[in-house]
Amino acid sequence: MLPSAPHRPVVTRIAPSPTGFMHIGTARTALFNWLYARGRDGRFLLRIEDTDAARSTPKATAAILEGMKWMGLEWDGDVISQSANAARHAEVARLMLANGTAYKCFSTQDDIAAYREAAQAEGRSTLFRSPWRDADPASHPDGPYVIRVKAPIDGVTVIHDRVQGDVTIRNEQLDDMICLRSDATPTYMLAVVVDDHDMGVTHVIRGDDHLNNAARQMIVYHAMGWDVPVWAHIPLIHGEDGKKLSKRHGALGVHEYQAMGYPAAAMRNYLARLGWSHGNDEFFTDAEAQNWFDLDGIGKAPARLDFKKLAHLSGRHIATMDDAALLDGVLGYLAAASLPPLTAAQQTALTSAFDIVKGGAKSFPDLLEKARFCLIARPVQPDEKAAKSLDTVSRGMLAQLTPHLQTASWDRDNLEAAAARVAESHGMGLGKLAAPLRAALAGRTATPSVFDMMLILGRDETLLRLQDTCE
Ligand code: GLU
Repeated sequence: MLPSAPHRPVVTRIAPSPTGFMHIGTARTALFNWLYARGRDGRFLLRIEDTDAARSTPKATAAILEGMKWMGLEWDGDVISQSANAARHAEVARLMLANGTAYKCFSTQDDIAAYREAAQAEGRSTLFRSPWRDADPASHPDGPYVIRVKAPIDGVTVIHDRVQGDVTIRNEQLDDMICLRSDATPTYMLAVVVDDHDMGVTHVIRGDDHLNNAARQMIVYHAMGWDVPVWAHIPLIHGEDGKKLSKRHGALGVHEYQAMGYPAAAMRNYLARLGWSHGNDEFFTDAEAQNWFDLDGIGKAPARLDFKKLAHLSGRHIATMDDAALLDGVLGYLAAASLPPLTAAQQTALTSAFDIVKGGAKSFPDLLEKARFCLIARPVQPDEKAAKSLDTVSRGMLAQLTPHLQTASWDRDNLEAAAARVAESHGMGLGKLAAPLRAALAGRTATPSVFDMMLILGRDETLLRLQDTCE
């Protein structure tokens, strides 16, 4: 019997390059990695690919951390900085040199340009083939050099990809890529492999724009005799029009979705469904997603953004969120949208209204609009539409209702009975009284039920608002 492979706990990672904000595609890739690890008692790591010093400002890194935190994708351990590992990357380049899988290349930029020119003239591949690959070290000059890995020359490299299937690359397309530059700084391609290996990454789940990199990165894995991770290159996200996502499509950064007032739980649910499916399940919890998520469920075709679907899922999540999570979400939304924060009293009032407003709200601004009646201060200013329902007759009815409300016990049945009595005395149904009541209590025509509003506002506030209106 063959010995079974040693059990390697699952380790995934998200390795964003700091570009100033967290792209929605990065958020989805992070989510997939998070789901995969969390569902398997694995670890999910965060590495900032900050080798490009010009772009990698602390602000750009902070934007990623904020995006990750808002998305609720907590990572294990410390944030890993790729640039901090530069010495280790260089060490690996030298190890490859020592084991003969890499070599010192002394070719200058001019040499390379001349090589390409000649190759072009002769109709050969312009991929640079260094004359130093098999040179005797005794012939090495005492000048600057780069370290190149020895790529396989013929045959094919097959990437066994869990999403794309087996992807075959002809090795003649692979050059001896530079791993260490002449100033001893590591290249990105080397850094990624060394970091993934050192972090114990078992599964690399990332955008399929990195598929070709996998073939080149495998050269380093093989050169070092390291286990190649499981690859899963996921299709990129496209816009609603089916085209590659770009600025033209609007919201690209997760912070924009936060500022639009979508709960992070809904974003996780929505992004999970963007390119991955579990039967026909659309609405699910994190626990369910973690349980269900598997690489087999990832589709090969690019997923399209669908704002209608996002709004729908957002509504369903809002409807099931508890008070603390809702309040937290609303406060985060207000801050993200640069809107004034709620006072403590408004927070209390809003919380008391959650049960009646969270049913039909598709976003936090939607929720706040529905709960507006309990957040505004007297005197309520009816908008134009609402003001129309406050004619003399209606005001008379409201005035007539006031003494009933002063004595009614403050519960729905009694409030309804009191309102019905007043409406009937005018030969009208209860509905006729609803519009002026909405105008008086909320200043709007579309509001929660008038009795719900009364119950939340309480007797004193309700009477004061009616009084303001009837004056
Ligand atoms: N830094 C790369 C990016 O932001 C990801 C590299 C990788 O996942 O291997 O696209």
